[in-house]
Amino acid sequence: MKQLSDSLLRMLKTCTNLPSPPAIASRIIELSSSETAGLSDVADVVSIDPALSAKLLRMANSPLYTKQRKIENLRQAITLFGLDGTLNIALSFSLVSDSVKNQTSGLNYNLYWKRSLASAILCQNIVQHLGEVSRDCAFLAGLLQDIGMLALDKAMPDLYKALHQKQFRHKDIYQLELNEINTDHSAVGSWLLEEWRLPKHLLEPIQLSHHNATNAGKYQTNLSKAVACSSLLADIFTSNEEDVGALITSNIDNAKKIVSLGHENFHNIIESASENYTDLAQMFDIKFDNPRMLEFICEQAKEVLILRNLNKIKETECLQEAAKQLESKTAELEELNRRDSLTGLFNRGHFDEAIEIEFKNANKYQWPLGLIFIDIDFFKQVNDTLGHDAGDDVLRQVARVLIKCTRDSDIVSRYGGEEFTIILPGTSQEGVDITCNRIINAFRNTALKLDKDKIVHITVSAGAYVYDGNNSEIQDWYELVKCADQATYQSKNNGRNQYCLIDEKPSAINKKLAS
Ligand code: GH3
Ligand code: MG
Ligand code: MG
Repeated sequence: MKQLSDSLLRMLKTCTNLPSPPAIASRIIELSSSETAGLSDVADVVSIDPALSAKLLRMANSPLYTKQRKIENLRQAITLFGLDGTLNIALSFSLVSDSVKNQTSGLNYNLYWKRSLASAILCQNIVQHLGEVSRDCAFLAGLLQDIGMLALDKAMPDLYKALHQKQFRHKDIYQLELNEINTDHSAVGSWLLEEWRLPKHLLEPIQLSHHNATNAGKYQTNLSKAVACSSLLADIFTSNEEDVGALITSNIDNAKKIVSLGHENFHNIIESASENYTDLAQMFDIKFDNPRMLEFICEQAKEVLILRNLNKIKETECLQEAAKQLESKTAELEELNRRDSLTGLFNRGHFDEAIEIEFKNANKYQWPLGLIFIDIDFFKQVNDTLGHDAGDDVLRQVARVLIKCTRDSDIVSRYGGEEFTIILPGTSQEGVDITCNRIINAFRNTALKLDKDKIVHITVSAGAYVYDGNNSEIQDWYELVKCADQATYQSKNNGRNQYCLIDEKPSAINKKLAS
């Protein structure tokens, strides 16, 4: 616990008019710490004070507690609240007594009690979401969290005068205290409650009630967390109308750093607190002169939540859009990766992947797979006579011709240099033969038009092999490539400007080549 300085302690201890618990509250405090006290002991104490008994009855019949049955006497009320509940509620009522409510100096008492009551109701609502803590205990802790301000105001009557009307901002209050006395009312409050011998579990929540860098992460109990959150949300109930919306937004964000509740939960907590406020203010004789403000808080809480949800939808939409763009960008990049930059045909990498897949498909579905290799004849001479740029141009034109001579389902690639390949899935010997013929004739009969109206005549040599999907000699797609390559070699050997379609098994071809 934060230590109070010696001089401040001396000042508080020697202050003769420090708020003190009324006699009835002292008796209740005694009962709280007694292990043997029972419901009838509590009834004995409470019934001494008819006003307190009436308030307990009123509380028991309020919308906060009421069930179907009307609570008609103190005993029923005490049974409804239970022992601890009754003690907490009775303490709340007796501590907010006239003796503690009388204004003497710089503190705006009306504002003080308005805020304390809001904190109490909020704290009670918050623990209902967190569990572990009874709502009456949370109410009492919320109500007493700023009690140190009363002690400081009595001991140092000029302290709060400097703030004048600005006391509705709690942050300004404890900043002033830090500047003036190097501590704040949370430390003084927990000291005072210890002096009053209030139950120990109330001390830490009150000591840590201000959510700041020093206290962050120190909350050990749900009650401490609830009190710190209630302090943040209570600002909304003492603010100006024009600040309400902004405070709901920012203070919920801060409260979310303390407890892991959703936005909806916080909005419900604020709404239900504003709905119950008037009833409780009457029970505690606390003046709330602007009931319209409570409706306004409710409306604002709803509005902020709607806006938040709208923003969330927008954010999700933006994220979805970004994901879509990324996906199409990735697809674009993948496509680029598969293409040859000079001709726009598929590149060698894609050819290797495609032939492997198509070889597997041919085996699986028992359909034929054609492969054609095409090599430009004497291409070196084109480069040598017309220049490398013209050579590039020829490669681009050849690519276009090959695309024209094939079907969309065929996969045309630049295998490397001036060599091209065509994979023809599901195409039989007959189909491959027709395609080869078409290609040879396309070049044989047509001149290529290059840039600057240059015209070039080229021919190509092709080699083809058709895998019938059932050839036990071919185990791997690479064997297919070898066969088509051999066929091209034969075309070259036979004088170029022609194609050769091998329909023998690889072993026969190899034998022939060896001889
Ligand atoms: P053959 O009829 O025996 O196939 O003779 P060829 O001249 O076509 O074959 P060779 O393998 O001797 O020469 C291929 C030429 O292709 C050599 C090389 O400079 C050229 N070449 C390879 N890639 C490119 C390219 O991207 N652009 C250009 N302009 N030329 C290329
Ligand atoms: Mg070559
Ligand atoms: Mg060549």
